Amino acid sequence: MSGEPVFDKLALLGIGLIGSSIARAARRGNAAAKIAVYDSSKDVLARAGTLGFADSFDENLEDAVRDADLVIMAAPVGAYGGLAAAMAPALKPGAVVSDVGSVKSAVLRDAGPHIPPGVHFIPAHPISGTEQSGPEAGFAELFDNRWCIVTPPPGTDADALERLKEFWRRLGSQVEAMDPHHHDLVLAITSHVPHLIAYNIVGTADDLSSVTKSEVIKYSAGGFRDFTRIAASDPTMWRDVFLNNKEAVLEVLGRFSEDLSALQRAIRWGDGDALFNLFTRTRAIRRGIIDAGQDSATPNFGRDPKKS
Ligand code: NAP
Repeated sequence: MSGEPVFDKLALLGIGLIGSSIARAARRGNAAAKIAVYDSSKDVLARAGTLGFADSFDENLEDAVRDADLVIMAAPVGAYGGLAAAMAPALKPGAVVSDVGSVKSAVLRDAGPHIPPGVHFIPAHPISGTEQSGPEAGFAELFDNRWCIVTPPPGTDADALERLKEFWRRLGSQVEAMDPHHHDLVLAITSHVPHLIAYNIVGTADDLSSVTKSEVIKYSAGGFRDFTRIAASDPTMWRDVFLNNKEAVLEVLGRFSEDLSALQRAIRWGDGDALFNLFTRTRAIRRGIIDAGQDSATPNFGRDPKKS
């Protein structure tokens, strides 16, 4: 725990995996003196209440954001425009409004116009998560040593930006600023298209008539099960990501389809060199991720060898 809290009151809107992890990490890192949470689901709020990671659990949005110095939207991206419009009259002058959405241009487009003058709107995206959802899935260590990308609009108040960055550092993250369009392209290749590929391969396996579903499950340790982890991610969240990052996803998918056709050709014509060269290059990327501390070097994602 380091120094005084960065913000006095934090309001979290949406308390699933990411929102509840922020609450837990903010307490651990003394990033906010008081935490209020709001969720559109009464059931989620009741479950969160029993977990006790905040000071108030509000069924009313305005009660949660009133007097808040930092408001973070942590619901699915498609909800941000409506949330921003609904909370605008209750926002405190000088407050910082941010989010955690996996796309950034659409958030600026949808939520930005509703933020009143005198309130600082600074979108952000923590690059960390799991395939699980809900307040029970969150944990304080989620952001440790992971990057948080902030996308401040031109003219953002320097002090407000620095406080938001310090908040994320207290949660364990490293922070980098980026242009929102560039963010969306980077995430299209590092996150959105990989999720689409996983959803697609798992769907294809499910649709195959020549291989039964029980065979797919029985023999999944051959590689398939690693795709199923990603393909088990929250359907609402990922629907909203693809609807709101259309341009960048389609651009990256175009490149992906061309490269897949080249691989198809190499297999058809028995071009072993082409396959070997690609597979050697991709191995080096894996080593780079481990060297950068973004994954562990433990074989087989650290699975217990006796159980895997
Ligand atoms: P989650 O576990 O499904 O939690 C989202 C919560 O928001 C749910 O409790 C949901 O309630 C609630 N909600 C839905 N609409 C709302 C609204 N209008 N107002 C208030 N609450 C609302 O999802 P998550 O994984 O935490 O994702 C939240 C955000 O984080 C998304 O924008 C996502 O893009 C971003 N993100 C996710 C990851 C990841 O790996 N999961 C990583 C980085 C960023 P119901 O369940 O009743 O709908």
